[in-house]
Amino acid sequence: MTELSIEPGARAWVEVDLDALRANFQVIRATASPTRGVLPMVKAEAYGLGAERVVRALEPLEPWGYGVATVEEGATLRAAGVPRPILVVAPMPPGAEPRAAEAGLTPSLSTVAAVERWAAAARAAGRRLDFHVEVDTGMGRAGFDWRDADEWGRAVAQRAGDDVAWTGVFTHFHSADEERLELREGAGAEIGGTTLEQAERLRQAVAGLPVARDRLLVHAANSAGALGWPELALDLVRPGIFLYGGTVPGAPEPAQVAQVRARVALVRDVPPGATTGYGATYSAPVRSRWATLGIGYGDGLPRALGNRGVALVRGRRVPIRGRISMDMIVVDVTRVPDVEEGDVATLVGSDGDARIPLDEVAERANTISYEILTGLGRRLERIQASGAGGTT
Ligand SMILES: *Cc1c(COP(=O)(O)O)cnc(C)c1O
Repeated sequence: MTELSIEPGARAWVEVDLDALRANFQVIRATASPTRGVLPMVKAEAYGLGAERVVRALEPLEPWGYGVATVEEGATLRAAGVPRPILVVAPMPPGAEPRAAEAGLTPSLSTVAAVERWAAAARAAGRRLDFHVEVDTGMGRAGFDWRDADEWGRAVAQRAGDDVAWTGVFTHFHSADEERLELREGAGAEIGGTTLEQAERLRQAVAGLPVARDRLLVHAANSAGALGWPELALDLVRPGIFLYGGTVPGAPEPAQVAQVRARVALVRDVPPGATTGYGATYSAPVRSRWATLGIGYGDGLPRALGNRGVALVRGRRVPIRGRISMDMIVVDVTRVPDVEEGDVATLVGSDGDARIPLDEVAERANTISYEILTGLGRRLERIQASGAGGTT
């Protein structure tokens, strides 16, 4: 258990280990060594861990810039004093341009009309602003089609004019993680095909543009791309999940960044046949000791963990019994000696030698680590725990 000063009455919280975060950043940079640097993705509050906190922790490592999904996220970081480029990777709805211009953000644009709107917003703001162009090489949710780059390339370069500067081109891999899984399972020679093909499509698109290659930042790799295909790192890599402790298949384990704790609020001895939770889906086969923890789906603990999840109490693994309630869960502590009300239980992370990895929780909940982290609720205070969580 960590030596943090947590309020004795605190019910549940998330510990964020910023040293671990920095260690994961260094692994990405050393493995991929992109020519211009790392663009950490801090969208969705840095995957639920706190964007400003994460940015402050990464600043000394001098990332090239930061990636967000929305204009509001970017404007908030700018207002917090971030001086570096802030790339908005998702297309912004028409009408968001003035706010993005005011904050000096770098949008990613997917249509000629969007370039025109951005140029108009820059002119109105009286400043020359950058933009990157997204190329759709198979993700199919944004971007110009890779096949006719000579066509849209000319139109984009022409519309950019003097008002805005076209400084980057990027694409997004759809299967960089899955292919590594297949690779480990020895699925054959075609492995890596789609990622390599997407990279080749991007290369062809860039070659067809009327802008010199060395005037554009070209980027493609997310965490799985940066670690699994370092040869595709190009100018920038855009890691997210690995920074925050999510496993990337085929890559070394990341250091553990987030730990989710909840206090034992109640301990009770129950007779055989006692039931717990909505639907009474679990009944005690024998006389048992149950502990009620102050955390539930209202805090982002997936409801799918009902009768499937585990927790750590006093350094031991215990099963979650019954359905997850909004504000509470019940765990079976029959075999854990001396459990007391006020003890700290762990839902994600380590307690002594015992550990519940983030990806195990995701698997048990039939989802991905991203959804677990971004789902952690506002009710859980994020507590900075540099060094406390340790590495794996
Ligand atoms: C979220 C995102 C990333 C980061 O992906 P991870 O799998 O979390 O590393 C990279 N690029 C884009 C465009 C994204 O939206």
